[in-house]
Amino acid sequence: MQDQQVPRTDIGTLGEFGLIDHLTRQFPLENASSLKGVGDDAAVIDNTGYLTVVSTDMLVEGIHFDLMYTPLKHLGYKSITVNLSDIYAMNAQPKQVTVSIALSNRFSLEAVEEIYEGMRLACKHYGVDLVGGDTSSSNKGLILSITAIGQGTADKLAYRNTAKVGDLICVTGDLGAAYLGLQILEREKQIFLDSPGVQPDLEAQNYIIGRQLKPEARKDVIEMFEKNQLVPTAMIDISDGLASELFHICTQSGVGAYLEESGIPIHPDTEMQAIKFGLDPATCALNGGEDYELLFTINPKDVDKIRFLPDIYIAGEIVEAKDGLKLHTKGGNIHPLKAQGWQHL
Ligand code: ADP
Ligand code: MG
Repeated sequence: MQDQQVPRTDIGTLGEFGLIDHLTRQFPLENASSLKGVGDDAAVIDNTGYLTVVSTDMLVEGIHFDLMYTPLKHLGYKSITVNLSDIYAMNAQPKQVTVSIALSNRFSLEAVEEIYEGMRLACKHYGVDLVGGDTSSSNKGLILSITAIGQGTADKLAYRNTAKVGDLICVTGDLGAAYLGLQILEREKQIFLDSPGVQPDLEAQNYIIGRQLKPEARKDVIEMFEKNQLVPTAMIDISDGLASELFHICTQSGVGAYLEESGIPIHPDTEMQAIKFGLDPATCALNGGEDYELLFTINPKDVDKIRFLPDIYIAGEIVEAKDGLKLHTKGGNIHPLKAQGWQHL
């Protein structure tokens, strides 16, 4: 499924420093806070007046991504966006990233260029500077480790442990698509492995597969908060499924939650594909991963600030811890919510 036609230049021809220079040349510094980027022993960042928000993630080939169906440019793009998503989930603005990469000799210069091209597009889209990293060889797979650095203010940062009883539970975008996208790609990979001549059947699955391969971080939502002077009482990004993230907020905040199944946003394509796979769409939204949407809570007095905002859905209410985490199904039943493997009865 990878294009075999591109020319192949051995990475060794550039040497380590030549490679770093070659890869980072296309990343001009845009942010005033980026005082020193690539090229010295360390980057220098000036966050005067702001709190510094830092998050790091490692992506390991074969664990977090499969190069049989992940185009390298998409991988580069996604590696940046999933990190920025964590900074936005603090209600902060990412400003810099560092990128560390371990490569086996299986990867050509052109392959690494593709990864960095995806990273460059993401950095440009989100207004983030690449200010450093590290380059190493690996025996086998590809490993990417990204650190994102951002700016926040004490009165606006949104933590996981500050949801209050009576707060409204809100979700952005739609959930479950990325999980189903992965199921489709895995299915097509198996078919390809079993009979390499067969063309993948990805027709009409653009939306779902796009959500898996090219997720976006919700910069726009953080900007809407700013514009409407809304500060969520708690927030987390949805990387492991709504149920699991809600558990994090509830456990850390010492509260419970009452979630309305009818309030969980699900795209019509997701709904249709779930049914085709014999899965319950709500289960995909609750327990699927990699949506990179935001789950947040607001004080009910702020409800008018979000009521008419696009792409934000009210999906429930924070209740007392003793009431636990419950799901009110479309069928009218109330089930305890489980962090993983919740079954629709
Ligand atoms: P050191 O030996 O001090 O770790 P390096 O030679 O690894 O220095 O790095 C030199 C400069 O290049 C540093 O600014 C570092 O942050 C940057 N750098 C190294 N690898 C990468 C990479 N893969 N992507 C972006 N910047 C990198
Ligand atoms: Mg180094």
